[in-house]
Amino acid sequence: MKHQWEEHENCQKLHCPICDGGLSVCKVCGLIEGSLTTDCPGYPCWAEKNEAIYQGKIDFVNGQWVEQSSPHSPAYYQTTRS
Ligand SMILES: [Zn+2]
Ligand SMILES: [Zn+2]
Repeated sequence: MKHQWEEHENCQKLHCPICDGGLSVCKVCGLIEGSLTTDCPGYPCWAEKNEAIYQGKIDFVNGQWVEQSSPHSPAYYQTTRS
């Protein structure tokens, strides 16, 4: 499945990172920009996985966790640059 982006209607928050900052947050898995997987795992896994995804160690593709860098991870850009 695809990530479902959190959106605020009539957001009252001052300097909301999502509405003002354009931050992408998935309301299903809770992952955010930089620690996003290719596909959505479909359950809340931010606390458990965000660090490993951010470091480019794991990704979630075609319904399973794989040991590769997510294209959203900052580590991914480093591997394409070198
Ligand atoms: Zn998601
Ligand atoms: Zn907002």
